[in-house]
Amino acid sequence: MLDPVLTQELPSFVTHLECSITGKRYEADRVQELSEAGRPLLVRYDLAALAKSIDKETLAARTTGFWRYREFLPVRRAENVVSLGEVVTPLIPLANLSGGQVIVKDEGRLPTGSFKARGLALAVAMAKELGLSHLAMPTNGNAGAAMAAYASHAGLRTTVFCPDDTPEINVSEIALQGAAVYKVNGLINDCGKIVGAGKTSPGWFDVSTLKEPYRIEGKKTMGLELAEQFGWDLPDVIFYPTGGGTGLIGMWKAFDELEAMGWIGPKRPRMVAVQATGCAPIVKAYEDGVEHAPLWENAHTMAAGIRVPVAVGDFLILRAVRASGGFAIAVTDEAIAAALSEVAAKEGLLLCPEGAATYAAYKAARTDGRVKDHETTILFNCATGLKYPLPAVDRHIDKDNLPDLASL
Ligand SMILES: *Cc1c(COP(=O)(O)O)cnc(C)c1O
Repeated sequence: MLDPVLTQELPSFVTHLECSITGKRYEADRVQELSEAGRPLLVRYDLAALAKSIDKETLAARTTGFWRYREFLPVRRAENVVSLGEVVTPLIPLANLSGGQVIVKDEGRLPTGSFKARGLALAVAMAKELGLSHLAMPTNGNAGAAMAAYASHAGLRTTVFCPDDTPEINVSEIALQGAAVYKVNGLINDCGKIVGAGKTSPGWFDVSTLKEPYRIEGKKTMGLELAEQFGWDLPDVIFYPTGGGTGLIGMWKAFDELEAMGWIGPKRPRMVAVQATGCAPIVKAYEDGVEHAPLWENAHTMAAGIRVPVAVGDFLILRAVRASGGFAIAVTDEAIAAALSEVAAKEGLLLCPEGAATYAAYKAARTDGRVKDHETTILFNCATGLKYPLPAVDRHIDKDNLPDLASL
């Protein structure tokens, strides 16, 4: 049986969109991209009416993943909801490594194996609702896969551009899930320029990170879900692997909306933006005490999902980090690889490199005292580790000439 939240008409409480930097008001219910100031648009709701329409018990009775928050989301008509079987992602304590106060939220369990499913499900649903038919994006892999999957399911066309060092598995899954996908001899911002060039002709709609208003709303559901899983009392610290920062911005928005609705109090987790030392524009801006992060030259890291040299939402990430009393921290690829192996071997949990970066950053923050051992800490594992190239195993035995099995 399908959960009624996927099929029933439910009210939506969107009032308008708002420029995240100037506060200028924009109309909802029509196609919008960046604001005139070139910054992300945020969706605003009648939160008082939303609070009257639903209660925590009703929510608890629903069985689906992020679509359980239908009333908190912008989709107006049920026919535009697009679902591939989302789940509430599990919380997995790292009991062996931390005694259990460090908890991984494992987003790798979502459709297409990454948390990009959240943002892209919403972007695709809204594209459908607004009558768009051909979506395009630059991607390091997971976003393109999620867009292709949800758009094909919804009957929309997609065109995707990847840097040519994108993992082969991502390029293949994008192609198999119905997109026209091209490898480009450049970085993600070079791919973004190609998408920009195709906007007027052939008329692609640009679904790049934060360039349309709805991926943030999808990522916002991570904050709603975390709050619900913690009984509406948020954890102390959140480590988030930060590329474009959609998830960090989205969770921060979720917490503000929940507080305005009276569902949580003023307590906030300290938000920690984790990047790689080979691409750390947000960490540099945080340390320099500024609100905008200049383009990071020669970006490189094995954690492709956070290899984002420039973020249009930089100031939103930095404001959330600072307002929460958190910080931004960079870790080396060596620390990421070591963290990945350690968590896999000790906990039986295969993280993606970006997820492993959060564990490496957590360890550094424990050492320097920025996180205390009694604090409940969430690490975001944003994709399944199975999507990434894994180290080869080259131990063989000869079935006809077995060694002493006790020596194995
Ligand atoms: C996209 C992505 C990120 C970064 O997410 P943002 O919310 O855009 O900062 C991190 N890890 C993986 C695996 C990703 O696909």
